[in-house]
Amino acid sequence: MTKSAGQPIPRFGEIQDVVKSHYPDADLDLIRAAYVYSAREHQGQTRRGGEPYLVHPVAVAQILANMKLDESAIAAGLLHDTVEDGLVSVEELEQVFGKDVALLVDGVTKISKMEFSSREERQAESFRKMILAMSQDIRVLLVKLADRLHNMRTLDPMPPEAQIRIAQETMDVYAPLAGRLGIYWMRTELEDLAFKYLDHETYDYIRRRREESLKEQEEYVKTILSIIRERLEKYNINAETKWRTKELFSIHRKMQVQNIEFEQIHDLTAFRILVSTVSECYAVLGLMHSLWRPVPKRFKDYIAIPKGNAYQALHTTVIGPEGRRIEIQIRTRDMDLIAEEGIAAHWSYKEGKTLAAEDARVISWLRQMMEWQKDLEDPREFFEHVRVDLYPNEVYVFTPTGEVKEFPRGATPLDFAYSIHSEVGHTCVGARVNGKMVPLRHELQTGDTVEIITSANQKPSRDWLKYVKTARARAKIRQFMMTEERSRALEMGREAAERELKRWKIDLARAEKEGAIMNVAQEHSFKSETDLYAAIGFGRVSPKALITKLVPPHEREKALEALHQEKPVKRGRTADKSGVNIQGVTDVLVSFARCCTPLPGDDVVGFITRGRGVTVHKTDCPNLVTVDDRRMVEIEWDREQHVERVVRIGVHSRNRIGLLSALSGVFSSNDSDIVEASIKTLNDDLAQGVFTAYVKDLEHLTKIINALKNVKGVEKVERLGM
Ligand code: MN
Repeated sequence: MTKSAGQPIPRFGEIQDVVKSHYPDADLDLIRAAYVYSAREHQGQTRRGGEPYLVHPVAVAQILANMKLDESAIAAGLLHDTVEDGLVSVEELEQVFGKDVALLVDGVTKISKMEFSSREERQAESFRKMILAMSQDIRVLLVKLADRLHNMRTLDPMPPEAQIRIAQETMDVYAPLAGRLGIYWMRTELEDLAFKYLDHETYDYIRRRREESLKEQEEYVKTILSIIRERLEKYNINAETKWRTKELFSIHRKMQVQNIEFEQIHDLTAFRILVSTVSECYAVLGLMHSLWRPVPKRFKDYIAIPKGNAYQALHTTVIGPEGRRIEIQIRTRDMDLIAEEGIAAHWSYKEGKTLAAEDARVISWLRQMMEWQKDLEDPREFFEHVRVDLYPNEVYVFTPTGEVKEFPRGATPLDFAYSIHSEVGHTCVGARVNGKMVPLRHELQTGDTVEIITSANQKPSRDWLKYVKTARARAKIRQFMMTEERSRALEMGREAAERELKRWKIDLARAEKEGAIMNVAQEHSFKSETDLYAAIGFGRVSPKALITKLVPPHEREKALEALHQEKPVKRGRTADKSGVNIQGVTDVLVSFARCCTPLPGDDVVGFITRGRGVTVHKTDCPNLVTVDDRRMVEIEWDREQHVERVVRIGVHSRNRIGLLSALSGVFSSNDSDIVEASIKTLNDDLAQGVFTAYVKDLEHLTKIINALKNVKGVEKVERLGM
């Protein structure tokens, strides 16, 4: 196929004739303009083989015309190398040929610029998907495939390393893509061409053996065909009978996969019988089996049970004359069209692979497109409908070394960074995408080349969780936050412990050294002091837990006495009038602790003070942690008495006019007298109110708090200590 040097420049007429044969009313002006433009831009350029460069774009356009593509695609085929070669800009093409052609050329240029380097199968698959994803318009891919096909047909003059590189890329990426689109003839041609350059020896061996075998079989094939035709005629079945030869690479693959010799390939030739209806398929099958004995277990009914890719046919192998095996495939003409040319596909059938769910989706979509095409008056309309995103949920991007990485749509440089290493993720400050600086929240696009920028001073923040799409990045950020929080809690916990101990004139560092802190930690089932500090920091353990262990009881009691400086409520009020019962005692002085302001309804306990009677605390009051059990006394509320208690309530709210009166109104409407009220403006937007008021019991308080929460603008209401 290589063009020889000195060949004349291809004429426009060569394309024109093909296009006219498919579309008598085609817009030839567009194609002619593209031809003239391309000829001018490539003028003076020659290909490696010495022929004028124009030979290549014209050949590509011819392939596209033969595939019945529309005028824009054929024009794009003529212009496809002008942008890549830096001759013109996409903008210029758009001005001259319109948006459609410019977009196609732009898409082809983008794909051409990508270099596939890895031989890893997974990489090849990502690369194929990337190209599919970039070819939002399926014509982009078809132009690219036609370009590759012509380059493969004219690969001879290239230096050997380039031949190998291009052939490998063709084998790994482009042939499977052609197969995925169901363009069976193109796939096998690309495979055989690539095979020739990648393993010339084996290629030559199989080619020779196939030639010999076909020559030897020639008579036999003729005999079989005439027997079949005769039998079909006899039964009045209008059928078309053909035979096909297995392609070279296909033979090689079968020998490899099944680990067999050339002689063991029995389907080197296969006979194909095409009929009109499904019932005829079965009738023909019966006729064939009545002619020759079928080989057991070799009959496959892909009509009743189509292949995963919807391939349909009846396959059988029979023992023909001279005891030779004959493979026969029977299908309707419609089934044949799809199997041979249809975008649907032979690829998984031949490769013995099952379809991934995503591929199945893409292919069924393409098949649906093919169906629609049938109903369209002008087949060109088909291409108006194919501008669809094939992989809407994924993006494919490059690392600076050309590796392809797959991410969910919406992924950012952070996802990319975490996919490399968690340290790279943690220290990521941004990225260069296609050479341009972008922030962390930047959404990656298919085809981008991404380079991560890190800084030793960077660390993850909670916000990052909003920017990431991958589970891995999310998990790594969470993990970091937890470690970070723990170390902050640890620090805070240790400070709280130090502060608490200072009040008792104990030095924390010294207590640590003496093992006293470790003892407390173990008593709370912690493995280490740091675990204890962290628990204190998280608020799970009170720092006062240290005191019970480290401060002698008499000192603790003395301190607690000092805490109760408060005078007894309504001087000298005794238990019988205070609203509580103390284990049957009636004549003892009762006061209510200011630290926790207990209310009827709260769980409470009494602390026996020295000389000032009993102080009532809530049982969960942190001040009680350090108290000796022997000075505690059980207390319960006296339901007969109704003694109102004073509480403080804090209200956080959005600032607004009339806020104070709205809040005060809640108290009065709930029968609660306010002793004191204040509102502090925190900023323009926020206000903090503190109300001191009488309430009857916990239930009453809860009702007031809920009513306050319902006031417009209020964000938080809490019960405070005095
Ligand atoms: Mn090209």
